[in-house]
Amino acid sequence: MALLVNNARLLDPAQGLDGPGSLLVLDGRVAAIGDAAGADPRAAGAEVLDAGGKLLVPGLIDLHVHFREPGQTRKETIETGCRAAVAGGFTSVCAMANTNPVNDTVAITEMMLSRAEKAGLCRYFPLGTVTKGAKGEELADYGTLKGAGCVAFSDDGLPVMNATVMRRALEYTSWLDVPIVAHEEDTSLVAKGYMHEGSVSAALGCLGIPAAAEEVMVARDIVLAEHTGGHLHLAHLSTKGSFRMVREAKQRGLRVTCEVTPHHFALTDKELNRFDADFKMNPPLRSPADLEAVLEALADGTVDAIATDHAPHGWDEKEVELVLAAFGVIGLETALPLTLELLVNRKVISLARAIELLTAGPARTFHLDRQGLGSLKAGSPADFVLVDLDGRVLVDRAFIQSKSYNTPFKGWTLPGQVLGTWVGGKRVWG
Ligand SMILES: [Zn+2]
Repeated sequence: MALLVNNARLLDPAQGLDGPGSLLVLDGRVAAIGDAAGADPRAAGAEVLDAGGKLLVPGLIDLHVHFREPGQTRKETIETGCRAAVAGGFTSVCAMANTNPVNDTVAITEMMLSRAEKAGLCRYFPLGTVTKGAKGEELADYGTLKGAGCVAFSDDGLPVMNATVMRRALEYTSWLDVPIVAHEEDTSLVAKGYMHEGSVSAALGCLGIPAAAEEVMVARDIVLAEHTGGHLHLAHLSTKGSFRMVREAKQRGLRVTCEVTPHHFALTDKELNRFDADFKMNPPLRSPADLEAVLEALADGTVDAIATDHAPHGWDEKEVELVLAAFGVIGLETALPLTLELLVNRKVISLARAIELLTAGPARTFHLDRQGLGSLKAGSPADFVLVDLDGRVLVDRAFIQSKSYNTPFKGWTLPGQVLGTWVGGKRVWG
């Protein structure tokens, strides 16, 4: 099985590559890439595809999705989630453990992996929980879960409020060399809040979630990461103070990484004026100053990855009063177009940095680079995406492949059409 993609603009930040050339795929792996790949003798007899000068990048990697299986398959299944992923250019997804039941046992991990394999779309990497039942009390069995295929551990959706539990989790996982992914909110500060606490929540008369609810936990866990030597990965950071602390932790050489979501670099809390629950998520949309801090952290290297926090919900949980609605939005199909429009076209970061935040950055963070993912170096799995940077997409129900449609970007027209997605050399989309 040989495939030769000619006439592409090759962009692979992991190997500092940006220029015209070809990609030769043999038996699911990259055989050659660049100027000379087209003339490689192994290309004789290969299926040939003309990329028409379009952008060819490594398959995107999402560190943070919720696919709802097992337990809430009316919102999303592993198969529909994987389809949304490949439609958005993602070839690897890391799935959170807060399913029902949660992923704290090998049987659940194996069930997830077999469903994903049956779907045959993208690579699926499960996370296990930090604590049994995600109850925040007793540690899960990390060694066994890692052996079964878990790439990181998180009680995401819930914080680990007990500091001793978090300390032990970081200690044990440091021996296994896997990250703990922290969903940072102090529940006593959140109380009954459901949007960002600030002038907008005050004007609307809504209960707010202060930035401090995130920041006190970020501060605590950076201290614990330093104390234990564990790898702390901070999910969906959203406040100015959080980025300041991560920046400082990185300068001191601590094993602290972080991700941001597209909705936190696209939107602010003033959207809540409409009382539309498609703008309700956790952490909440923050102030304009926080959004500026997200952009600064993306540009200066503080942020390691853009992750979607793809969180499908049915209309019955969204078309209700704001206070009652579920937290969360989908994001797999819109992440790349939003990144291109709001970060690259507005000159916040370069195209190469944007692609790095969606490929090599996340691959390094969860050690997927050890499997060759996040890059198209010779020998790597042939996971790649062909993108028309000028092609525009309209975010409507037909565009969204997810089973749910809770996106705050309904009706937006954005650049960045995914023309095709390949996983292990096999075309899975387009
Ligand atoms: Zn979370």
